[in-house]
Amino acid sequence: MVKSISRKIDERIFVNRYNIHKESHLHVDQSMCEKCEHKPCTYSCPVDNYVWDKETKRLTVYYEGCVECGACVVVCPYHKITLEYPPLGRGINYRFG
Ligand code: SF4
Ligand code: SF4
Repeated sequence: MVKSISRKIDERIFVNRYNIHKESHLHVDQSMCEKCEHKPCTYSCPVDNYVWDKETKRLTVYYEGCVECGACVVVCPYHKITLEYPPLGRGINYRFG
């Protein structure tokens, strides 16, 4: 009873919800990342999805937490990031109102 009430409350007050897709909707061609001086993707993403590893010289993209704002696509100076929205109902779900 208590559980079902709290589930109903959660249902009513949630703001964002994730339904993570098995495949990334962010595609990064890393051919220019090493040369990319400031790596703006690593500090422009509001949820820190991009992490540059200095040793391996590779970028890890944590697409699961993406809020689909598109900032990374805009800031990449080499236009190497592509965002394709996840299939309907996947990714982040916003609740408005
Ligand atoms: S901004 Fe673009 S080129 Fe630079 S590190 Fe990020 S993905 Fe690579
Ligand atoms: S779309 Fe926005 S939240 Fe998603 S990885 Fe790019 S900057 Fe981060």
